[in-house]
Amino acid sequence: MALAKSLSISLFGLAGRLIEIEADISSNLPAFVLVGLPDASVNESAARVRAATTNSKLNLPGRRITVNLSPASVPKQGSGFDLAIAMAVLGASGLVNKSRLTKTVFLGELALDGSIKPIAGILAALIASRAFSIDQVVVPLANLAEAKLVSGLNILGFDHLSQVASAFGAEIAPQPLRDMVSNELQQEASNLCFSDVVGQPDAIEALTVAAVGGHNVLMYGPPGAGKTMLASRLPGILPPLTEEEAIELCAIRSVAKIDVDRLPATAPFQAPHHTASLVSMVGGGGSQPRPGLISLAHNGVLFLDEAPEFHSSVLESLRQPLESGMITISRAAGQAKFPARFQLVLAANPCPCGHAVGSGKVCVCSATARLRYQNRISGPLSDRLDLRMELSSVNAALVNSEIKSPTSSALRSVVTSAREVSTSRLSKTGWRTNSQVPGSYLRRELRLPKQVTAQLDSALDRNLISMRGYDRCLRVAWSISDLNGSTSPNKDDLALAVFLRGNEL
Ligand SMILES: [Zn+2]
Repeated sequence: MALAKSLSISLFGLAGRLIEIEADISSNLPAFVLVGLPDASVNESAARVRAATTNSKLNLPGRRITVNLSPASVPKQGSGFDLAIAMAVLGASGLVNKSRLTKTVFLGELALDGSIKPIAGILAALIASRAFSIDQVVVPLANLAEAKLVSGLNILGFDHLSQVASAFGAEIAPQPLRDMVSNELQQEASNLCFSDVVGQPDAIEALTVAAVGGHNVLMYGPPGAGKTMLASRLPGILPPLTEEEAIELCAIRSVAKIDVDRLPATAPFQAPHHTASLVSMVGGGGSQPRPGLISLAHNGVLFLDEAPEFHSSVLESLRQPLESGMITISRAAGQAKFPARFQLVLAANPCPCGHAVGSGKVCVCSATARLRYQNRISGPLSDRLDLRMELSSVNAALVNSEIKSPTSSALRSVVTSAREVSTSRLSKTGWRTNSQVPGSYLRRELRLPKQVTAQLDSALDRNLISMRGYDRCLRVAWSISDLNGSTSPNKDDLALAVFLRGNEL
């Protein structure tokens, strides 16, 4: 019986399914038939496999070839199955050793000349292979550096079908392997430093606190106050990504078709323009959903400059990921889920003309226009902002001042040690940062002594702050206390938390 099997992975979002590819050669009239719910691009595989095998000096028998992709219920998209199909067919033809094919996942698209082209989503596919306990994977050579980021697998990289066939027992002379530039894991240094920032010591202090607690931030102030400059330096003071976080981010980048050949050391920073579409922000598009910018900012910073100018549907779409750290994209074929746990930094002018606060110029907006503009960042989104900073234009006195801003590397080490304190305090709770701790937990399990909260309590009694505002002050106070190396916030920490929240309690 001329039957052979190989394995591949079908991706939907970041979730992979193991696909078994069976090839059968029967004595009927010559034909090449694919069954098992393949989409158009998989169907074209037949033509590519035929041409690629011929051009690899491997001659398929002139008989009927049937290839079945199972389970049939799983949709199969894209050209990444070419290599697995070719190997199953070669196995059934007796041209390669078919017993070895059944324990190997093959990933790669074939060109007509037999060369193997890179595919998107290699990392997610490899993580899936490992989960299915298939530990040998053949990948396109161009994806090898990316593939090697996943440990615990035997990964082979090739750039021509003849090499793969030869490695699996075909008696042919394979094409020589291209030289690959060695891709050592590089440290990614963020060269943006806080020492470039002139003035704004309060803003830098507030961002340091935000970095410790993972707090979402709203900065408002006139154009030119340095909002973008400050926000873009935030990732540089966040603790370095752990290996697990870095691999997770690479898997997302790989599905988004962004070249991945090294593990990033620094948290990502995404700063979409306010004209960004909903799809580019949250992901989606076509039958095979791609992650959006909020997922590319996973474990890092999402910065929305001129936030009130963003489309309201885009601002609304941030609610789900801010709650759950995930975004779900629904398609006919099912739901794709992408991680999207980001620290949100919003920047806004105080009014449409930009001069209502802190610029020294005269605002020309009506009171209604000003209010409407501020209300664009509304309810649920606003609830998630722990820190609100008001920035002023930098004046000559500050530019000429002798006081230098601290460097990012100094701030990063301070933040990293403070983060360790909160991580160990929250280790049994499932929350990772102070910003994620719910108000009820803050007020019960992490209850502070009466004399510490006295002032805040009386403000609450007199309706000067809301319950939400109260909780936010507590969260920020914990980050300040972690920063100071104390066991719990004192009166001063709480007072600073109130100050850092600006005038808007
Ligand atoms: Zn104005």
